[in-house]
Amino acid sequence: QSNQAMLLAKKTGKNNYQFYTKELHEKITRKQQIEWALRNAIVQDEFSLVYQPQVDVVTDKITGMEALLRWNPAFGVVPPDEFIPIAEETGLILPIGEWVLREACRQIKKWEKQELPKVRVSVNVSARQFKDKQFTSKVKAIVEEEKVQPCDLEIEITESVMLDVEGASQLIQELKELGVKVAIDDFGTGYSSLNVMKNVEIDTLKMDKSMINDVSENGRMMSLLIAMIRLGKDLNTQVIIEGVETKEQKEFLKEYQVIAQGYFYSRPLPAGRLQQVWEKHGAVLGVTSE
Ligand code: C2E
Ligand code: MG
Ligand code: MG
Ligand code: MG
Repeated sequence: QSNQAMLLAKKTGKNNYQFYTKELHEKITRKQQIEWALRNAIVQDEFSLVYQPQVDVVTDKITGMEALLRWNPAFGVVPPDEFIPIAEETGLILPIGEWVLREACRQIKKWEKQELPKVRVSVNVSARQFKDKQFTSKVKAIVEEEKVQPCDLEIEITESVMLDVEGASQLIQELKELGVKVAIDDFGTGYSSLNVMKNVEIDTLKMDKSMINDVSENGRMMSLLIAMIRLGKDLNTQVIIEGVETKEQKEFLKEYQVIAQGYFYSRPLPAGRLQQVWEKHGAVLGVTSE
């Protein structure tokens, strides 16, 4: 690796030698450091989940919570966008993903015991997990062991993952047969999951945060977003708009009767810090039970 650094540095000339070796070296060690630390992160108890409410813009009630993974190793917080790709590359996402699923199920039970209104909890899964032949049976086992109702759990799969995995429709169908809900995440970011949507009934469409973000500056984006909301409604799916940050955005969405997720309502928070959110947007009882 340091040879690589030297080759690159030589091409750029003598004077830059020091600079390039140092920068490359830092990158390599950071990645290696993350990789090494990730291997022990579960046993070291360094992971936690935070939850971000999904709020019906019309009724102002929580309908669901997205579970988002946080990692706090000894050398400081590493954001998911940095460590998840490394976890995927190394395969460590398999045990980590199972930990996330189990932890989310345990939280569902905890909220149930606290007699809080029932909401669905959604969990992100990566391509590597989804491709794993055991995935459906792992989900089934966890749901059974943790004694949660399958319909209280939702699996979020991004459009790109759906395209990447052969037989995605079939896999989603298997999950649906278990009774868990399925969401398409980051919808509208350049892939098309229409092929999947023609085969199976998706429960939730999550419009990527870039869409609402661009609405005010880009009239075409507004038309696109409205069209996608209609698409979701016509297909009878729940529609969630991600990245809602302002009151104006929320007001705009009211006309379309969707669910919003974003900093406007709440940042993702540890379960113990959601009291205020529960008080303000206490959910409709039994909204997810079927
Ligand atoms: P995602 O699933 O699309 O999650 C939404 C991301 O948007 C979260 O970032 C959330 O904190 C952020 N967000 C929420 N509201 C707003 C807002 O109003 N404005 C802006 N600018 N951002 C907002 P986070 O937590 O950093 O997660 C990033 C991504 O990492 C997630 O995107 C997901 O793809 C992945 N991820 C997180 N947790 C897990 C996990 O447990 N497993 C897997 N496989 N991936 C995960
Ligand atoms: Mg997500
Ligand atoms: Mg998303
Ligand atoms: Mg994303």
